[in-house]
Amino acid sequence: MAAAAPATSPAQDYDAIVIGAGLSGMYQLYRLRELGMRARVLEAGTNVGGTWYWNRYPGARFDSESYSYGYSFSRELLQEWEWSEHFAGQPETLRYCNYVADKFDLRRDIQFRSRVTAAIYEEPSRSWRITLEDGSHFRSRFLITAIGPLSTPTLPRIEGRDSFQGKSFHTARWPHEPVDFAGKRVAVIGTGATGVQTIQTIAAEVGRLTVFQRTPNWCAPLHNGKIDAGTQQKIKAGYPEMFARCQETFACFIHTPDPRGALEVSDKEREAFYEKLYSERGFGIWQGNFRDILIDREANATISDFVARKIRARVRDQKVAEKLIPRNHGFGTRRLPLETFYYEVYNRDNVELVDITETPIERITPEGIRTSAAEYQFDIIIYATGFDAITGSFDRIDFRGANGACLKDKWKRGPQTYLGLMVDGFPNMMMLMGPHTALGNIPRSIEYSVDWVTGLIRFARDNGLTRLEATPAGVESWTDHVKALGAGLLSNEVNSWMTGINSNVEGKQTRIVARYSGSAPAYRARCDEVAANGYRELALG
Ligand SMILES: Cc1cc2nc3c(=O)[nH]c(=O)nc-3n(C[C@H](O)[C@H](O)[C@H](O)COP(=O)(O)OP(=O)(O)OC[C@H]3O[C@@H](n4cnc5c(N)ncnc54)[C@H](O)[C@@H]3O)c2cc1C
Repeated sequence: MAAAAPATSPAQDYDAIVIGAGLSGMYQLYRLRELGMRARVLEAGTNVGGTWYWNRYPGARFDSESYSYGYSFSRELLQEWEWSEHFAGQPETLRYCNYVADKFDLRRDIQFRSRVTAAIYEEPSRSWRITLEDGSHFRSRFLITAIGPLSTPTLPRIEGRDSFQGKSFHTARWPHEPVDFAGKRVAVIGTGATGVQTIQTIAAEVGRLTVFQRTPNWCAPLHNGKIDAGTQQKIKAGYPEMFARCQETFACFIHTPDPRGALEVSDKEREAFYEKLYSERGFGIWQGNFRDILIDREANATISDFVARKIRARVRDQKVAEKLIPRNHGFGTRRLPLETFYYEVYNRDNVELVDITETPIERITPEGIRTSAAEYQFDIIIYATGFDAITGSFDRIDFRGANGACLKDKWKRGPQTYLGLMVDGFPNMMMLMGPHTALGNIPRSIEYSVDWVTGLIRFARDNGLTRLEATPAGVESWTDHVKALGAGLLSNEVNSWMTGINSNVEGKQTRIVARYSGSAPAYRARCDEVAANGYRELALG
C-alpha cells in the first residue's frame, strides 16, 4: 500500500476538482470531460454513490419514485436500466450508481479514500490549493463542491456514549457486513425519515425493540410495489413526458398541488380527497395536496387532523397513538417520512415507545440507556439522529477565499450565496446542492445545477476568463430573495434541519433560511437569465 504523501509533496494540477462522488459529483465529472478538461473527483468514501453508499441501514429506500429520481441525461441509460420497485431500496440504488460509473468509465478520474480538509484560493495563480486528510495537495483553477446536503452525520450529545459495551451504529455509517438482529435487544434513537424506515424494517426481526422518540413526525404510507413488465415498458416509453412534467412542478416531483384551497371545498369532498391521497403512492399527499396546506394554518389543520385520525385508527393502544401524533408542527412542515406499516409496529408485543420529552435520556451506560424513569439494557444501539444538514459538510472543510476570508465565519449567521451556486470572495468556486438552491426531487436539481456550472466554465474557457466571482451585491440580493421567499411558509416556523436547527451541533440552535423555498421553475428561470445575459452579474476577469 502506498504510504501517505508527505505534507510537502508537490500539488497535482487539474483544470477542475470536484469534491464528492455522489450523484452531483459523478454527473459533474461526466460534463467536465465533455469540455475536455483535466478533472479529478476527490471522495472520502471507498466507492461512488454518496448518500446511497453511506446509508446502508436496514430499510433505506427512496421516497421519490425510482424512475423520477434516476439521471435523465442519457437516453441510453434510461432504456438500459430497470428499476424493480416504485421506490427502490438502497442496495438497488447503489447498484445503479455503480452501473452509471462503469457505463461512463467515471472511476478512472475519481480518487477514493480522499477526504478534503482544506481549500485555499491563491490569487497569483487564480487557482485553488486543496489539501487532503493525508496531507497531499492538489491545485485546480476551478473547485466544485458536491459534498451533499445530507452527508455529515451527527450523534446525540448524550453523556456516556463511548462507554456502551454493545454494538452501536449511526444509520449513515452503517457497516458493510450484515448486522444480526435475531433475538437482540435493540434501541433506536430518533424517529425522522431514517428512524421510521429502520424501525419498521427491523421490528419483526429483533428480540425487543425500544424506540426513543423526542419529536414525532407526521408520516404517510409509501405504498411501494414491484414494477411489472407492462408498467416497465410504459415507464420507458414515457420518460420524456415524465421528465418534462418534473420540470414544471414546484419541487421537481411528479406530483403537483391541487389548485383548490382546502377550505374551498365541502367537508365531504375534502375528506374524500385526503382518503384518495392517503391511499396513493409516494409524496402526493405532501406535494400534490391542496395548494394552501403549507401556508395556511387552518388549511394545514384539516390535513393534520385527518392524519392524526389515521394514526389513532392504526395504533391499538391510544396512549401510544397520542404520543405518535406531532403537537409542535403541522403536517408536511417538516420533511415527510413515508412509511410501510410503521404505525402497526407499535401494536407488536416486542416494541416499546419511550417519549424522551417525558422521561429524558440521562446517559448511555455500559449496558444500555438510562432515562429519568428506567434503566434499559441493550445489545445494539442505533442512532438515527440525522445530519448536520446543508452547511454541515462545508463547515468541515477549511475554505479560504481571496484575502484569506473563511467561509465558515462568513456563514456564521446563516449562508450567503449567489443563486446558491457561488459566494463573493470565493472566486472560481461553484457549489452543487449547497445552501439556497432548489432541492426537491434532488437529481432533477442536480442535473440543472451541473449543467449551469458547466455552461459557466465553458463560457470562461471560450472567452479566456480565469477568474469568476459573485459580487457582494449579487450575493446580498439573492440572500434577501431567499429569505423573503421563506416568509409566510409554515415550515420556516418549525425547528428542523430545513431551518438549520440541530440540537446536537454547537452553534446550530438559531433558525436560519438554509434552503431556497421558491419553485424550481422560478429558480431555473433566474439562473437561465444570468447565463443568457453573458454572466454579466458576475465579476469576470
Ligand atoms: C436516507 C436518505 C434518503 C434519501 N432519499 C431521497 C429521495 O427519495 N429523493 C431525493 O430527492 N433525495 C433523497 N435524499 C437526498 C440525497 O442526499 C440526494 O438525493 C442526493 O443523493 C444527493 O447527492 P449529492 O451527490 O449532492 O450528495 P451526496 O450523495 O451526499 O454525496 C456527497 C459526497 O461527498 C463526499 N464528501 C463530503 N465531504 C467530503 C470531503 N470533505 N472530502 C471528500 N468527500 C467528501 C461524501 O462522502 C459523499 O460521498 C435522501 C437522503 C438520505 C440520507
